[in-house]
Amino acid sequence: MDTYTTRFLEVKVHTQRRVECPGCGKKRTVRRTFCQTVNPYHPEVKALPLTATYDDAHDMVRESVRREAEDWVPSDYEARHVACVEERAGL
Ligand SMILES: [Zn+2]
Repeated sequence: MDTYTTRFLEVKVHTQRRVECPGCGKKRTVRRTFCQTVNPYHPEVKALPLTATYDDAHDMVRESVRREAEDWVPSDYEARHVACVEERAGL
């Protein structure tokens, strides 16, 4: 039996936030990359009319990943310095 692997186009959005480290209280910048693929199972792609083109699907996914990045609020874990985690571990 042959196995086929389908590679879907990845749409990435890089984003960053200025946050306060919950360990030491200093300001820092945390970065995160959001990625979604243009694939037929994507809920927003599935919601498109049958007449939609690949470009329409690409636009939907780009918009979806952009919203995901925009809505991101770093967790305490993400905001904390690695060194500050270690400091706290000893308490
Ligand atoms: Zn810190």
